[in-house]
Amino acid sequence: MSFFSPSPSHILTLMTHLLGKTLQELQDIATSLEMPRFTAKQMAQWIYEKRIGRIEEMTNLSLANRQKLTDAGYDIGLESPADAAVSRDGTIRYLFATQVGKHIESVYIPDHDRATLCVSSQIGCKMNCYFCMTGKQGFSGQLTTHQIMNQIFAIPESLSLTNLVFMGMGEPLDNWAEVAKALDIITSPWGMAWSPKRVTVSTIGQMQHLPDFLANSQCHLAVSLHSPFADERARLMPVEHAYPTADVLALLRQQDWSHQRDLTFEYIIFRGLNDDARHAHALAKLLAGLECKVNLIRFHAIPDVELETSDTAQMEHFRDILTGHGLTATIRASRGEDIYAACGMLSSLKRSGKNAIGQEK
Ligand code: SF4
Repeated sequence: MSFFSPSPSHILTLMTHLLGKTLQELQDIATSLEMPRFTAKQMAQWIYEKRIGRIEEMTNLSLANRQKLTDAGYDIGLESPADAAVSRDGTIRYLFATQVGKHIESVYIPDHDRATLCVSSQIGCKMNCYFCMTGKQGFSGQLTTHQIMNQIFAIPESLSLTNLVFMGMGEPLDNWAEVAKALDIITSPWGMAWSPKRVTVSTIGQMQHLPDFLANSQCHLAVSLHSPFADERARLMPVEHAYPTADVLALLRQQDWSHQRDLTFEYIIFRGLNDDARHAHALAKLLAGLECKVNLIRFHAIPDVELETSDTAQMEHFRDILTGHGLTATIRASRGEDIYAACGMLSSLKRSGKNAIGQEK
């Protein structure tokens, strides 16, 4: 495990950042500064393809236009992580400073020829899931598209990334306006030009914007379920009261999942709570006929929550019942356990003045 010191570059300024702007927004900037409209595409290419750090490097823009951008208060806006913890298994948990004095986390997960970044979408979270450290922090604000894109561009491993998952802090569909712009930048030819098949958005079933996501994005979808029974799920995830699983599944059943993209249900396994055969059969029945996968996840303990994870044999038994029903089910490998695997743990420690292994700093 190793750490590096905070970089002064995370100090917040009043500059307006170009990183995180969509093509339309860059066109609006060009128009407002009386620059030719085509300079917007040139700017996008410099920011998202060539990944420059300074406006002066946009060498096919005239000197006068570069000066206009600078005089108007624009910069690229790359902001280095404030801290990081490196796991024995190569997983790296990065912390980024935010405008409200709290930190958000991004987790880099190398795995053979894949390198995935788990991206945060909010500062804390409103959803208050019982088992979640981020939920315990409460909600402190939305991340801007710039802050979302900066997580992807500012880590040293940025160029090696093969996949992105919006499974970090926050509920992505509760910040849909900014997340939608980030997905646009990631998957558009003028942006990062990634296939949407390299990107997964995870939700707890935020129905207000799930239809928008399904209609406007081809990225994969993961839905956090954690119980097949509504009353039990409501105790773990209060969102069940506002957006019942039955409504979420009814919407998902209207989509064609056979070709376009993957649908995965995330299921954290809690010992003695949701890990028995009754739950497995009920889960299989709930998802019957839906083209999907189930991802079984070990629970990483958090303070003041008495829940424990199931042992491997119980997880395998649960998985085998699901596969016996014809479902595709896998047990997700745990990564970065020595650097607080539970989402939100590291940023909570940062707030309390401890480092990533819980020692006083
Ligand atoms: S599990 Fe996700 S939606 Fe629930 S509180 Fe944590 S971050 Fe929010």
